[in-house]
Amino acid sequence: MSDDQEPAVNISGGVEGGGVAAEFDPATADTRAEEVVDRLGELYWEKTYGGQDAFTCLVRTILSQNTSDKASQPAHDALIERYNDDDVDLAESLADADRSTLAETISSAGLYNQKSEIIIDTAEWVKAEFGSVTEFDAFVKDADPETVRETLLEVRGVGPKTADCVLLFAGGRGGVFPVDTHVHRIYRRMGIAPSAADHEAVRAVLERDVPAAKCGFGHTATIQFGREYCSARKPACLEDPEACPMADVCEQVGVYPETGEVVDPADTPDGDETAD
Ligand code: SF4
Repeated sequence: MSDDQEPAVNISGGVEGGGVAAEFDPATADTRAEEVVDRLGELYWEKTYGGQDAFTCLVRTILSQNTSDKASQPAHDALIERYNDDDVDLAESLADADRSTLAETISSAGLYNQKSEIIIDTAEWVKAEFGSVTEFDAFVKDADPETVRETLLEVRGVGPKTADCVLLFAGGRGGVFPVDTHVHRIYRRMGIAPSAADHEAVRAVLERDVPAAKCGFGHTATIQFGREYCSARKPACLEDPEACPMADVCEQVGVYPETGEVVDPADTPDGDETAD
């Protein structure tokens, strides 16, 4: 296990976010995708997930949409401080919230008018459909994962990534590998997913090839790896092939160190042929 701990401020909630330390061994990987996830374990803190309160997790993920964790974390903390009261259900408290006050409370997360509307609608939905955050939490943790996912996707403002994050961080559902922009880019660049694959197709490849218990770590570690090494415009290998610790397992689809050019894998002429 690496000494580099995952940052405390992270979509997973860092060490406080319900993660449990785990250890993975690249030598025993059955697929390239699994080997990549195991190798990420040499860079970041390995863990499995689950145990977060489902409604709090849903609110946190809505706040994190289209922004960095650095911006959404203070918004989340401010929302909890203002609206979480031991005597009142959080869904009830947010369903009754004044929209402009809520928007002001979460302003650091950006798109606060839109997000405040979505959070109030979501709180009203939880209240109407489940009665309380406790009942909603039980549904997310105990019901069939596909049913939970489909139910969450019916809520306005909840997309596939938000639904998957709730399933993963709250339900601890193994085998859920949420695909954000980093995950989508990196596994197509590596040649593990087809170059033209959309988010759902990349998710299907990863959930097929990465064992259930490693999917959550794979998601958060890949995001961190994308930020540190394999960014959209300046992957580390562009100037120095030795600079990326994954260079030996990567096909660099759409990355051309000879010319300094970087394109989306979907825009490469022969990228499709690199897929497993
Ligand atoms: S070798 Fe380049 S394209 Fe491949 S993972 Fe590393 S930085 Fe990204």
